[in-house]
Amino acid sequence: MLPVKQAESIILNLVQPFDGKSDTETVELSAANGRILAKQVTSQLDFPQWDNSAMDGYAVRYADIQAGSLQQPAVLEIVEEIPAGYQPQVSIQQGQAARIFTGACMPIGADTVVMQEQTRRENDRVLILEAPEPQAFVRRRASFYQAGMPLLEPGVPLRAPEMAVLAAAQCTQLSVYRRPRVAIFSTGNELITPEQPLELGKIVDSNQYALRAFVAQAGGIPLPLPIVRDQPEKLEEAITKAISSADMVLSTGGVSVGDYDYVEQILAKLGAEIHIHKVAIKPGKPLTVATFALTAQENGGKGKRSILYFGLPGNPVSALVSCWRFVQPAILKLSGLPQEAWGPCFVRAHTLTQLHSGGNRETYIWGQLHLKDGAYEFSAAGGSHASSNLINLAQTNGLAVLPIGQTSVPAGGIVQVLQVVSPV
Ligand code: AMP
Ligand code: MG
Repeated sequence: MLPVKQAESIILNLVQPFDGKSDTETVELSAANGRILAKQVTSQLDFPQWDNSAMDGYAVRYADIQAGSLQQPAVLEIVEEIPAGYQPQVSIQQGQAARIFTGACMPIGADTVVMQEQTRRENDRVLILEAPEPQAFVRRRASFYQAGMPLLEPGVPLRAPEMAVLAAAQCTQLSVYRRPRVAIFSTGNELITPEQPLELGKIVDSNQYALRAFVAQAGGIPLPLPIVRDQPEKLEEAITKAISSADMVLSTGGVSVGDYDYVEQILAKLGAEIHIHKVAIKPGKPLTVATFALTAQENGGKGKRSILYFGLPGNPVSALVSCWRFVQPAILKLSGLPQEAWGPCFVRAHTLTQLHSGGNRETYIWGQLHLKDGAYEFSAAGGSHASSNLINLAQTNGLAVLPIGQTSVPAGGIVQVLQVVSPV
């Protein structure tokens, strides 16, 4: 059986990231949140765009006030009031000052701002009680950013800070990577939808819902397909449809060694190359990873491309653990994010509960990760840790990992925890 690390590296090597030219689309700034930049953004604006005041106070000529003190204040005539947004009309001459407010444009002639706390106003005059440093409290044009320099690089996910930068720079049209289209279908004769009556022996297809949510959270577009029965012809039809409409395919079920497990057989029949059959992970041992090589013509004339196919285990917990551990990094790489963002993200935590493993597979124990006094704590979900028990999977935000050979971690011990978070 393949070790987890090796499976991860095989999978990542199979992912061919989106192309910065052909796999992009243009979006309005208002629709850009959560998207990933495909082209470098530069701005024609300097930041700040003009010299402006960092304080409420008085814009002055330093030479006029440098000798000012409490005992002998410099006295200046106020010739203009400049609130934020106002264009100064007057240039400041010797012996003059302008009342100025934070963010307002510096008037010509002034080179320094004296904060109002160090002044006293007397009608149309201001007394400077203490001189600041020369050029104090002036935000110089282009001191934060010079027009034409790179502002944001390709691969940057657009979140609140980047949205602010783009808005300030008046970048209203953005080239972003398109979102990966991920086809999802469940296989099994026993499966029904949540709306259908639950006859004895039937099982609700919860994987469809879990995987849709997972794909959307990872920044992909889920393409849900109907439940597929355990019949080779039906499976062949569904896989053919999935690979013709998606960048990646996730199916669940039918990858173990049972009589009704046809996925690998059909993948091979359809010409897929199978790279992984089983991984030494618990839960999630039966994992099929395959690729379909599309010709340039099959890829709509956009060059050769390969479609990654994940045949995930049917067990709901196993399916999600496989998604978090293996599928998420693959989606993130495909999406155009840089390598640092692919994850998976492990943190070191103290476990509050004792953890157990059979020791022969890398074991992932679901539960909750909390920060306490700046350090992570993990507590395993209560109840059964059978991979068919999806009930106590609710509110999982971490999976404690016991490597092969380690059979337990005592309460209070240190454990690596895979954080179940998505960076987009
Ligand atoms: P399989 O991998 O097809 O052998 O399925 C393993 C177990 O997972 C069986 O108990 C199935 O009933 C259950 N299962 C399979 N597919 C799903 C699904 N889509 N949603 C919920 N449970 C499933
Ligand atoms: Mg099945």
